[in-house]
Amino acid sequence: MKPIQMVDLVGQYQKIKTEVDQAVLGVMQSAAFINGPEVKHLEQELAAHLGVKHAIGCANGTDALQIAMMALDLKPGDEVITASFTFVATVEVIGLLGLTPVFADVLPGTFNIDPADIKRKITPKTKAIVPVHLFGQTADMAAIMDLAKEHGLYVIEDNCQAVGSDYTFPDGTVKKAGTIGHVGTTSFFPSKNLGCYGDGGAIFTNDDELAKKLRRVCNHGSDVRYYHEVVGVNSRLDSMQAAILRIKLRHLDDYGKARNAAAAFYDEAFKGIPGLSTPERSANSTHVFHQYTLKVAGGQRDALKKHLEENGVPAMIYYPVPCHLQNAYRSARFGEGSLPVTEAITHEVLSLPMSTELDNEQLTHITTTVKRFFNS
Ligand SMILES: *Cc1c(COP(=O)(O)O)cnc(C)c1O
Repeated sequence: MKPIQMVDLVGQYQKIKTEVDQAVLGVMQSAAFINGPEVKHLEQELAAHLGVKHAIGCANGTDALQIAMMALDLKPGDEVITASFTFVATVEVIGLLGLTPVFADVLPGTFNIDPADIKRKITPKTKAIVPVHLFGQTADMAAIMDLAKEHGLYVIEDNCQAVGSDYTFPDGTVKKAGTIGHVGTTSFFPSKNLGCYGDGGAIFTNDDELAKKLRRVCNHGSDVRYYHEVVGVNSRLDSMQAAILRIKLRHLDDYGKARNAAAAFYDEAFKGIPGLSTPERSANSTHVFHQYTLKVAGGQRDALKKHLEENGVPAMIYYPVPCHLQNAYRSARFGEGSLPVTEAITHEVLSLPMSTELDNEQLTHITTTVKRFFNS
């Protein structure tokens, strides 16, 4: 059996090596390293794939969120409602810009932000909602967009984990995750579903005016070289990464199918094991399985993780400490007990290996090892 990794990026590269190597060499020969044609082409192809008007490359997913908040003119003191059960980057940029993070709890089944709790957290100072499409499923965007409209709020989708996921509105309209709010952001970190071979990110919008502002902020606040309209940042997508991403974008749908096949294998094997919950599927969203995350009841999670690791199966806890209980982001308002679902699931979640390259032998080893722990 091939050794099992959380994500097998080497195996994935081997299958597209010829195309990727050629594309990277092409960039070197052209020496168009910054904002070359590869970046433009990727932006066009991404926008077409997702069905959105503008896709704007930037340096990483954290920058994408920061740039979105800067372009929307969010100001110190403005409140931004987001999940605490997320990767820290979402909350970090809110803090960096002097905005106030306000945390909403998540739903225990899908792990996504709970619109009912967003509603409870809206105040006259609230300016934006940042739903995080966690682990590969789109949050309940119909409810979130309704709340935003009613209260005049911006919606910035943190789509670093769910690129390719489809969301269906109650009227049957289908949209891709990251193209529904005023702005969407994603990360091309290597282990993400659409990952490059270094750092990268992108921002999406259907609003022409906002697209201009986003590009301006990315480019030192400038439209015309050496003339600066606003305070900006330097955040660019590398041409070599763009060339690699153009190839991987062509495989994205197949990658999603491979991840779903692995998830279906897990689901089937873990049916009816007491104390073990498989990931719930949202009624309105397809799943692209950035992570396959179990919930383990009865305080057994850490013991299962140890048992798996002793048997050659890596497993990870995403996320062991929610943002509101991190030392950097503690506040009087969000103490221990303030977000009961978030706090409970951080003790129960365990993510299994998930990649485009898992084979049946590996999946069988993983599932039998899990089942042995539960004597089933
Ligand atoms: C990965 C990730 C980010 C940050 O992306 P980087 O490219 O690593 O900066 C932000 N939010 C979420 C939910 C992520 O998973």
